[in-house]
Amino acid sequence: MQNLFRRVRLSVSVSAALTLCVGLSLTALLFASVRRAETQVRTARFEQEASLRISAVSSGLSDAVQQVMVVNGLFRTFGNVTAEQFASFTAPLLARYPEIQALSYQHVIMDSERKRYEAQMRRRFPNFTISEFVGGTQRPAAQRDNYNVVEYIQPVEGNELALGLDTSRTPEHAAARLRSRTSGQSAATSLLTLVQVKGFHTGFLVLAPVYLRGAPIDTEALRQRAVVGETAAVFRVDHLIATLLNRAGLRGTPGMAVNIYAAASAQQSQLAFRDGQAARPLPADSLIPAWLLYDHATPKSASFTVAGTPWFMQVAQAPAPFTATPGGSLYALLGGILSSLLAAGAVYSVVSRKSVIERVTTERTRTLRDDNLRLAEDLALRMRTEKSLRLREKVIEVSSNAIIICSAVAPDYAIEYVNPAFESITGFSAADVIGKSLRTLAGASQDHQNIEEISAALREQREGHAVLRNYRKDGTGYWNDLYITPVRTDEGEIINFVVAQYDISAVMRYEAELEFQARHDALTGLANRNLLNERLERAISNARHGGTELWVVFVDLDRFKFINDTLGHEAGDILLKTLAERLKLAVREADTVARMGGDEFVLVLPEGTGRDAGMQVIQNIMDAVAEPLLIQSHEFFLTCSIGIAAYPSDGGTAETLTKHADIAMYRAKEMGRNTWQFYAPAMSERTRERLEIEADLRHALERGQFVLHYQPQLDLISGNIVGMEVLLRWNHPQHGTIAPSRFIALAEEMGLIMPIGAWVLRAACVQTRAWQLAGLGQLRVAVNLSPRQFTQKGLVQSIAAILEECGLDARHLELEVTESMVMSDVDHAITILRDLKQLGVQIAIDDFGTGYSSLSYLRRFPIDVLKIDQSFVSDIALKEDDAAIVRAIISLAHGLRLKVIAEGVETNEQLEFLREHGCDQVQGFLFSLPVPATEFAALAAGGLCVAAPVSKSVAHA
Ligand code: C2E
Ligand code: CA
Ligand code: CA
Repeated sequence: MQNLFRRVRLSVSVSAALTLCVGLSLTALLFASVRRAETQVRTARFEQEASLRISAVSSGLSDAVQQVMVVNGLFRTFGNVTAEQFASFTAPLLARYPEIQALSYQHVIMDSERKRYEAQMRRRFPNFTISEFVGGTQRPAAQRDNYNVVEYIQPVEGNELALGLDTSRTPEHAAARLRSRTSGQSAATSLLTLVQVKGFHTGFLVLAPVYLRGAPIDTEALRQRAVVGETAAVFRVDHLIATLLNRAGLRGTPGMAVNIYAAASAQQSQLAFRDGQAARPLPADSLIPAWLLYDHATPKSASFTVAGTPWFMQVAQAPAPFTATPGGSLYALLGGILSSLLAAGAVYSVVSRKSVIERVTTERTRTLRDDNLRLAEDLALRMRTEKSLRLREKVIEVSSNAIIICSAVAPDYAIEYVNPAFESITGFSAADVIGKSLRTLAGASQDHQNIEEISAALREQREGHAVLRNYRKDGTGYWNDLYITPVRTDEGEIINFVVAQYDISAVMRYEAELEFQARHDALTGLANRNLLNERLERAISNARHGGTELWVVFVDLDRFKFINDTLGHEAGDILLKTLAERLKLAVREADTVARMGGDEFVLVLPEGTGRDAGMQVIQNIMDAVAEPLLIQSHEFFLTCSIGIAAYPSDGGTAETLTKHADIAMYRAKEMGRNTWQFYAPAMSERTRERLEIEADLRHALERGQFVLHYQPQLDLISGNIVGMEVLLRWNHPQHGTIAPSRFIALAEEMGLIMPIGAWVLRAACVQTRAWQLAGLGQLRVAVNLSPRQFTQKGLVQSIAAILEECGLDARHLELEVTESMVMSDVDHAITILRDLKQLGVQIAIDDFGTGYSSLSYLRRFPIDVLKIDQSFVSDIALKEDDAAIVRAIISLAHGLRLKVIAEGVETNEQLEFLREHGCDQVQGFLFSLPVPATEFAALAAGGLCVAAPVSKSVAHA
């Protein structure tokens, strides 16, 4: 009996254990298969996500890169593109493609042209130099055969460093340049450090060659020869790809890692972009196969090319444990374990009903297993079909091109679907067009041939392509590139057509505008260089036949840059437009007015000019420019400098005449602006000389060629010398004494003004102190500061050091600054002036009255002296206007407790006027020219003084 019981208990335990084992095994089996299905679903979802990213990046990149060819088209069409045209053409592109950092044009400059080119560019950008980066610092480019100089770059802001940069030396550039020039296509550089962008980011450039217009470019050799430059688009790689991903809403998905390389494979050194964490490897030591516990999709990768260079992209997913998202498998596992335990428990407790329970258990387990298996299969199937469908849907939905799906049933081809882009481009909503015939979208006035091509494609059920003009809901037309493709079912039957429209209205519009733009200046609507050349050539040939004369007149505004810099480019533009209008009115009907860019205008005064008639036009122009201008409630008085070259005496071709008029204009500027000059052959000589001077200036300081002259300043009350202005002279070994007007601006541009200015200050202070000690009195020395010097960091400290060094009391130093220097950045100027005042030096505003109408600002500047410009003084006796201005300046200055000094006093008449109206001090040829130190000492020792006043009261007495 005992034995029997033991046997029964044993068999009960065995049965229960067996039950449990079977239950758990089944559960494991079940879990594994559900897991597999789940993994497949997740993998499918991942692949879909990965494809979306890959297509967003690859198509976005090719779209962006395309823009460099769009800009290139501008040069191909125009040949000569002005800075304004470049700016206005690229602005909409940059706005539309924020992923483009900059668009630029590099010009090939031969070494022999370098000087001329730099000088020409400096008219627009005073600091322009062909430069290069060496060891992280920018400096003038070393000499080489030719340079690839960044001539235009947009946007300008943030890209200032790039202007003038010679890109020939960067190896990355050179390789891409060679490829683009030999192929005639765009080519991308490998990754490089961008100087265009503040902060030195990694990026790349896409270059496309610009050939001389009309030159043959059929073979590689011909193309190499015809290159004149290249257009380029600059991309900051992180910003570019982030923009593309953000735009598609695909950035920063948790668990998703995107790695993009600018190489054919995953080369770490060429890693261009990374988003998210890279996938962690699966735990290797686990007993259970990893796929069972973790979802781990194989990374998806793709290669594509961007302007001829290979790119590689990889999207990976971080492995996720299956418990991360509770799904069928987790429930199957828990349910299975629970049922198995229950079953085993039941077997153990109810021995007698063992068979029944066994049956029940197996039954239950089986149902459970079957249910779950069915569920898993179902799920997998659904996901597989949905995967591709959803991917396609999403691509269509986010596309920026209009996409239409229509039925393949003739004759209507009823529209079945339109995407959001279609709705926004055409203004038709889906409800408006679904069910309607595809033909309703085509307008009435179509190019017959193109519409026929599409009809034929529909009829023959094949692919088709045409450029069409379609109409929006509001009736306006738009040009589009239309592609049509039949869609086949698995059985090969065609049930639908997909129609994709790429909006190319902008391109077509540009083409239409190109014709006009090619010959006119975008800002002012005046003729541009191209049209000017055409007209000039025609005029020359007419003059040749008629034996008449013709004039080419170069007009350049004086100090335009100052207004542009102070009031901003918008104000500058308004000013140019106004002046363009005035110039048109100032000339005769047959004359041509053209704008050469910047503030330069060229006029052609053709046949029958006659000297008087021609001069009348010149006078009209000067008067038109001189008329006051009101911009942003500021009143401006502008002047211009004019150069004139006559046919046939000054040249026989359009090119020579324009060049000579330009040279004559330069001479007019040198003469002190606001004047005109006829070309003379000696001027070309001077131009050459100017270039020479430029080269010599670099060494003038170290070779001790500078000397200081001193011009006395006299007090009108005491009649004595109270001080002197220091004026710099350059003793050139060949050219003799050179006046500062010919080299100070040059020194500014060449960056030499700092050492020269410092030398002047020190030498002047040392000399003054020496004279004081020699008993010539407490003389005050006035030193001119140049704009760069004024804004230079550490100016105050260096002046303090110089004063300390030579023991000169600060109140004996006066610094002369001009109105424009303090007006270009008022707040900054006030800070500098305050610091200088704190030091104890005196501040004088030089050339007062010539610049900005800044009377209201004067109050805010901590200054001591106003220096009335010589132009007013010279005309006091002649023009009532100038006399009134001088009177006003004196009373205004006294109202502000400032002293007034008049410069350029040449006659007794002027002196008397100034004295009568309370001017404090005077300086001018009437008393002394600026003279070398020894002569000045003699003057001061000899007691130079102002002659006693021819006072009226005295005269009466
Ligand atoms: P500025 O400061 O207006 O200097 C006055 C100019 O007027 C001087 O020309 C002087 O020789 C000239 N002048 C003086 N009295 C008369 C007169 O009675 N009649 C006429 N017609 N002219 C008179 P300069 O020496 O050729 O200097 C020209 C300009 O060069 C100066 O104009 C000043 O802006 C600049 N400059 C001269 N020396 C220096 C210097 O050391 N540093 C800087 N930054 N600029 C300097
Ligand atoms: Ca001065
Ligand atoms: Ca002056």
